[in-house]
Formats: sequence, structure tokens, C-alpha cells
Amino acid sequence: MAKSTRSASNLPIDVAHMKSSDRLPGRTDLKRGAVFKRLRILFLLVVLLMVSLITWQDRYRSTRWREPLFVAVYPIAADDSPVTRAYMEALDAEGFKSIDDFFTREARRYHLHIDEPVKTRLRGELKERPPERRTDGGILATAFWSLRLRYWSWRVSGNVREPEDIRMFVLFHDPALTPVVPHSLGLTKGLIGVVYAFASAAMSGANNVVIAHELLHTLGASDKYDPASDAPRFPDGYGDPQQIPLYPQSTAEVMAGRRMLSATQWEQAQSLDETVIGPSTALEIRWPQHAE
Ligand SMILES: [Zn+2]
Repeated sequence: MAKSTRSASNLPIDVAHMKSSDRLPGRTDLKRGAVFKRLRILFLLVVLLMVSLITWQDRYRSTRWREPLFVAVYPIAADDSPVTRAYMEALDAEGFKSIDDFFTREARRYHLHIDEPVKTRLRGELKERPPERRTDGGILATAFWSLRLRYWSWRVSGNVREPEDIRMFVLFHDPALTPVVPHSLGLTKGLIGVVYAFASAAMSGANNVVIAHELLHTLGASDKYDPASDAPRFPDGYGDPQQIPLYPQSTAEVMAGRRMLSATQWEQAQSLDETVIGPSTALEIRWPQHAE
């Protein structure tokens, strides 16, 4: 106790000494500067190494498929509209059950040795919104934003006993105020999804398709549509590329998110009932390769 008091009382003197600016930098200062620079680089390297190790471990654990993945769904009101408020108040766990059912049904089709691969859990509403990504930012800005998002996610979530393998932050918008929402995203780094959804009962099925899509991104699945036109890519973006006749497709591949109606027309999947996990997505998330 006495020791710590003494060192605390010494501190202001040391600081005052270090701050004295009336000296010219000597050899020792220059040497010290070089040492600090090296230490700073070393520290950054250690942080980067730790982040990549955690990412690698997340990827390994999330795609082992031995025990269920707990997916925490955090609802967030994206605007102050009474429509959004009413929708938020009415949200219940049952509304996300179709996501669990979708993964159970598809896992069975692929003979995965687990009955319930995904268990969604509805968490309490968050009053904070995640940090926004600047669309004009370069690679460095994106990397920095991704770190900020991971930190933000860690800070606002996890106040529960149950594990949270994946965190999905779902921002609900009044469709009358925001008819077109930004692109949702799912990051393998940090196992985080940010979903822009609509506060409308008629669109809750389509919202769940987007949640499942972004959830699969966090597990390493890639998009199966043409970004220029949004058209599902043939063959891996089709629900069943071997269907005869080919059109209209009776299902949509979840990573394409749209169902082909004819060779030139497609529509957004309205619910997970009309959506499947195709073989190429299954391969990316390390599911066995023999679907029925
Ligand atoms: Zn996507």
C-alpha cells in the first residue's frame, strides 16, 4: 500500500520532467524514438495476429456442424415512425422460427448429422445503431470500419448466459419512409450480420430470407447472383438447375435470393419456404456433398 502511494506521488514529477520542451533532442531521445516506433509496430502486428487467429478459430468452429449455432437476433428501430414502433413492439421469437426450420429442413436434405444446426434467439431491442460503412471508402477505411463494427458488436451484445456464436443486427425501416434499404451484409470476420429490413408483417418472410442469406455469408457462403442485374447466376444461383422444364423455377437458391420465373424474369423470394441451399453454397459452408 505504502509503495503504491509513493509511486503515485512520484508520477506528476516524472510527467513534468518528460514534458520539458526546452531541451534539444539528444542521441538517447532519438534512440528512444526508434525503440518506441518498433514497439508500436510490434504491438500492431500482435493485434493483427490475434484478430486473424480469432477469425480462423471462428471459421473452424462455426462450420464444424457438431453442435447448434446460436444466432442472436438484435432488433433495432431504424427510424422514429409509429409504424416501426408498433412492429418492434409486436416482434416475438416465433417470427424468426422459419430461419431455424429452414436450416433443419436443408440439413436433413444434405444428411448433416445434426437435427437443429441453427437456433435463433431474439434479444431485447438495441437503442444504438451500428457504425455505418462509407461507400466511398478504400480498403483501409473498410478494414477500419470492420474493426469498429466488431468492437461495437462486442460492446452492445452478450449480456446473456447463453452462447452467441453469431450476431445479427436487424434494422427495421418503415417501408413508407424508406422504400429501398441499403445492402445488408454478413461478415465472416467477427461472425456479424447487419440486416436492413422492413417493419411490415407482409414482408417478414422476405426479411427472414435476407437474415438467412447474411447468416450464410458469415459462414463463408458467397453471392450467387449477377451484381449488375441481380439475376440469379446459372447454374449455382438456381434452386434446381436440372428442373424440367427449367422455368419457372419452383425454388430460389438462398444466396441468389431470387426465383427465376422465365429466362429473363425473376422475383425476390417471399419466404424461406420457397428457398433452398444449393450444392455450391453447401460446399462453401462445409456441408456434406450428397443432397437428396
Ligand atoms: Zn449477399
